[in-house]
Amino acid sequence: MDLTTAKTFEESLHILTNTVASFSERAAQNDLEGRFPFENFADLRKINYPSLTVPKEYGGQGISLYELLRYQEVISKADGSTGLSIGWHMGIIQDLGETDRWKDSVLKSLFDDVKENGALINNCATEKQTGSPTRGGKPATTSKKEGRHWVINGRKTFTTMAPVLDYFNVTAVIKETEEIGCFLIPKSKAGVEIEETWDSVAMKSTGSHDLILNDVKVEEDALVEILEPGQKRASGWLLHIPACYLGIAQAAQDYAISFAKEYSPNSINGPIIELPNVKQKIGQIELELVRARHFLYSVAKKWDESNEDERSKMTPELGAVKVAVTNSAVTIVDLAMRVAGAHSLSEKTPLQRYYRDVRAGLHNPPMDDMILPLLAESAIENQTLEKNLSEQVIK
Ligand SMILES: Cc1cc2nc3c(=O)[nH]c(=O)nc-3n(C[C@H](O)[C@H](O)[C@H](O)COP(=O)(O)OP(=O)(O)OC[C@H]3O[C@@H](n4cnc5c(N)ncnc54)[C@H](O)[C@@H]3O)c2cc1C
Repeated sequence: MDLTTAKTFEESLHILTNTVASFSERAAQNDLEGRFPFENFADLRKINYPSLTVPKEYGGQGISLYELLRYQEVISKADGSTGLSIGWHMGIIQDLGETDRWKDSVLKSLFDDVKENGALINNCATEKQTGSPTRGGKPATTSKKEGRHWVINGRKTFTTMAPVLDYFNVTAVIKETEEIGCFLIPKSKAGVEIEETWDSVAMKSTGSHDLILNDVKVEEDALVEILEPGQKRASGWLLHIPACYLGIAQAAQDYAISFAKEYSPNSINGPIIELPNVKQKIGQIELELVRARHFLYSVAKKWDESNEDERSKMTPELGAVKVAVTNSAVTIVDLAMRVAGAHSLSEKTPLQRYYRDVRAGLHNPPMDDMILPLLAESAIENQTLEKNLSEQVIK
């Protein structure tokens, strides 16, 4: 069973759903031990999942954003940590294929490695000193030119999927010019080290450790991109983040309904699912889920159907999806826990894991406090444009 040979999208979804069944079984123990789910990544590689977003012109499947998010939701419903982790890789590869930012030879070699070996990549942009890079902090990681090489030094935090990554896409200040560059660093380079620092109570199995770069010497073309100060591209691929939290929210609803169908205290005849107060909460969960799902997938479809110019105007909409869906996921898990009552706090139920995991969504980019002012700006600008337009019509 291989996703690259599946005949239809439905067949692929079926293969993926069967593959991830074991992810849900492993999730509780991995979470308890803060263990990285190596087996899940081996299983995803077996069905060629990591190569699905490689563009068609490079011999890949070139799946759409809509398809990617549907897959990501399935994986995340089974195990949020695995979903968020592989989502970074899938999205980065899709984004690189859709934009013309890196040299063709570098892309070809990376994409070949993904197709042939299931190689995995992630962006390593966060540092203790900068906080979230989306807020404009300057990396303390440095790169210095030495002949035909770059020498990189620094420490990155939150390196999700660190235990299985093959490539680190690292931001660093170029000492000579003070520009911020992105450097593609293979894990095999001398001086690349992972320090197992990940102690978060949420998304415990993402292995988001520190990456240490100690005099790492890379070739000239490892500098793949220079970031323009203040420039923010519209990034459809980042919707893998809300898709992940939607998956976790769906898992919480499923658990709450199953629990309510089974649980039958002797103060009532029959299970609690028949009680109006329980139905009310399940209805509220469903409302949140339906709304979040429609919003996420309609914007993903719009992205798929838009040209470059139209996509460049979608930043507020994409941010709105992220904020709305991740906040809905937090609400849904809260409601699911209220359905189950104090049982939801037991280590034996997955609800307490979902509760911790969905919180992480609030701190994945773009954050609420970045998006709400942006939405305000967009609304004010739209109103001004409409007013000017109607004044022109009246004249
Ligand atoms: C599970 C998980 C996985 C992650 N994986 C990755 C990864 O693979 N690669 C990666 O590079 N990063 C990753 N990150 C890091 C993430 O992208 C953020 O950088 C990180 O969560 C810190 O974000 P923050 O908003 O809490 O941090 P900070 O920027 O430190 O902000 C903390 C608080 O300070 C305030 N604040 C700080 N600066 C400003 C400012 N300039 N303006 C206004 N308010 C400010 C805000 O109120 C904010 O809530 C991951 C994070 C999580 C939780």
